[in-house]
Amino acid sequence: MVVLRNVSVACPADGSVVVRDLRLASRAGPTDGYEKQLRHHVVLPALVNAHDHLHQNGVPPLPQLAPFRNSYEWAAAFQDHFADAGVRAALSTPLTARLWQGGLKNALSGATTVMHHDRSHDAFDAANFPVRVSRPCTWAHSLHLQYGPDVVASFRASAAEVPWFIHLAEGVDALAAGELQELRQLGCLSGNTVLIHGVGLDDADVTDIVRAGAGVVWCPSSNLSMLGRTIAPHRLRALFDAGCLALGTDSRLTGARDLLAELKVAATHSDFSAHELLQLVTACARRLLRTAHCDDCIIVRERGADPFHGFDGLQRAQLRAVVRGGEPFITDPDFADWFAALGISCNAVWLDGQPKLCRSDALSADGVPAWTAEQGLTLQ
Ligand SMILES: [Zn+2]
Repeated sequence: MVVLRNVSVACPADGSVVVRDLRLASRAGPTDGYEKQLRHHVVLPALVNAHDHLHQNGVPPLPQLAPFRNSYEWAAAFQDHFADAGVRAALSTPLTARLWQGGLKNALSGATTVMHHDRSHDAFDAANFPVRVSRPCTWAHSLHLQYGPDVVASFRASAAEVPWFIHLAEGVDALAAGELQELRQLGCLSGNTVLIHGVGLDDADVTDIVRAGAGVVWCPSSNLSMLGRTIAPHRLRALFDAGCLALGTDSRLTGARDLLAELKVAATHSDFSAHELLQLVTACARRLLRTAHCDDCIIVRERGADPFHGFDGLQRAQLRAVVRGGEPFITDPDFADWFAALGISCNAVWLDGQPKLCRSDALSADGVPAWTAEQGLTLQ
């Protein structure tokens, strides 16, 4: 049995913090017992990233001089960018390796569950894929970009208990402002509808979303870089209070480096407390994504009196450990015995200049090294 002694177990859902021994069960079952004294450490549920496109995280972003009015203009401008040598090189990488790198990006930052807004892929079923991809889910891309499943057909084919995702109101112009009513007229606003972005929503739209019991995934970094604006704090508050809001990174094409960086941006552009921000990336996200509870967790050093406040400005290399399925995924070097006790092979790596141990089987996709595309991650 793995026992972490005297650790502060924090629960964002109810705000409780209890110092106790934490016992972790894993699929493999330890070959030896493992105990570690973790006084002055906090354990939190692992994070949930409610919006990403895993395969796009290694593609160089579109150079941009001024904000776009909406995402369709951004997508049109991107067409010329496909000729860029860096973009071509990234897109010529096998899809599995690209998805894997997106998984690594998330897992390294403590986000072990991710909503992937695109087609599903066999790689997600591999036990060593770096993250849990939220499923089942259904999706359309957006109302006006010709990509992915048909909007109405995909919504109608989705069971009422399965979340259906669509980019919506990703803009600051009249087109974006009209999209919620357009969606409603198509009959696609319901309790399982999850809207990504929502920058163009007004107060009446927010009321309609709350009344329908639908959800919104807020991606402030992406909004600010593409559009120069994001959802107003009072609308975020209304959505949060109704249990209709989660946080996502989007891909690095437009979004933050990872979910920890996104939390920092979210703190700057809202009135949410540290505790509420963590709810967005744990309990709130699970509710919107309708994902089952899991025991994944992250371990951090205590930073001040409020364990939730300790996440403010936290960077991925500062996480002491990311734990998936009761097993260490990436840790500081002093947890080496934990890997050994479970018989899990690990590699010594550098993560943003810090020495770490990462489980070996998560670094490569079918023998293709996926970690090489992840900036800041190198083998020692
Ligand atoms: Zn997106």
